[in-house]
Amino acid sequence: MLGFRLGVSQSYGGLLGSMKIRNIEVIELEMPFSRGVDNKGDVGFLNWGKLDFCLIKVETDNGLVGWGDAFSFQCRRPVAEAIKYMIAPRVIGLDARDPVKINHELQQGLHLFGRYGITLFAISGLDIALWDIAGKIAELPLHALMGSASITPVPAYASLFRYEDSELVTDRVKHAISLGYESIKLHEITVSEVKAAREIAGPSIPLMVDVNCPWTPEKAKLMALAFKEYDIHWLEEPINPPENFAALAKLRAETGLSIAAGENACTVFEFKKMMEIGAVDYAQPSVTKVGGITEFRKIAALCEVYGIQIMPHSPYFGPGFLATLHLAQVIPNSGMIERIFIEPEADLFANSIYDPKNGAFGVPGGHGLGLEPNPDVIKTYRV
Ligand SMILES: [Mg+2]
Repeated sequence: MLGFRLGVSQSYGGLLGSMKIRNIEVIELEMPFSRGVDNKGDVGFLNWGKLDFCLIKVETDNGLVGWGDAFSFQCRRPVAEAIKYMIAPRVIGLDARDPVKINHELQQGLHLFGRYGITLFAISGLDIALWDIAGKIAELPLHALMGSASITPVPAYASLFRYEDSELVTDRVKHAISLGYESIKLHEITVSEVKAAREIAGPSIPLMVDVNCPWTPEKAKLMALAFKEYDIHWLEEPINPPENFAALAKLRAETGLSIAAGENACTVFEFKKMMEIGAVDYAQPSVTKVGGITEFRKIAALCEVYGIQIMPHSPYFGPGFLATLHLAQVIPNSGMIERIFIEPEADLFANSIYDPKNGAFGVPGGHGLGLEPNPDVIKTYRV
């Protein structure tokens, strides 16, 4: 017996009947956000003031609509073009009820364009939209379709911006604690800011430090040992390039610090390399990057085999965030969910799903991803 029920027909024959992908629309948004403090600058984090969204709207020939979300920070237009010109022509007319098969065929057909980056981001967005449709066909929230009817609140952590200023770090850590966050991640790369955060947070708040791949292995070791004094819960992506898993494994062994990485890895094969060599304590797949829900679930299974906890990368505010909430319900090794500590000018889903209650996230209860984007918000921020 097949695991889901159709609105159009209850029969097996009906299930094999038509539900073709009729149209794929790419919707690009640019939404300003506030970082809560004023420390704008010219480069990197300090220069970043608008969120990119690359939404994918998939329509079937029987009128269902699914929403997906491809990673698009600083790469929105290339990702949108990839969806329009590399993905859509291959999948229009295919059966929308085949997300797993379509994912496999896209990965196979597009492998020559790279197994990390724009192509996989685009595939991820489509995959999320097809799973949204699968939930709507089944008339179930996605987590229930994937095998978990009950909901466990998932702990959130505040993922602070990079402020490069100890006073601002102190201010933001205090603010995060006042909002009920019990774990906090910094994006600082110098010791003085980490020290300031620990001093204000006190000894009991887990503090993570994400440095976004700046260092050689030697420099990473020096910095890791300096940060260690402030009781770091994990050090994230200390080494450049991110796929130097051997150097990460060595750093982990030599410093005794817990290492997190994975937001710059796509597909289960890359995660396998990371785990085989012992590079990480925490794996951070990003559902809008790795190949969508289909690929994320394979990575989760692999992490379970290796005894590695998942800390999903999710600093975004579209359907990908909702997908992460659902995935956390069906993954036994899922840990905290990242909430990037900025405030977008508008809420795409208009119900504050991004604001944790008592330090934890719930899951939207509607069918599929559970919430539909607000058309007025789309209209206002559409590029
Ligand atoms: Mg990170």
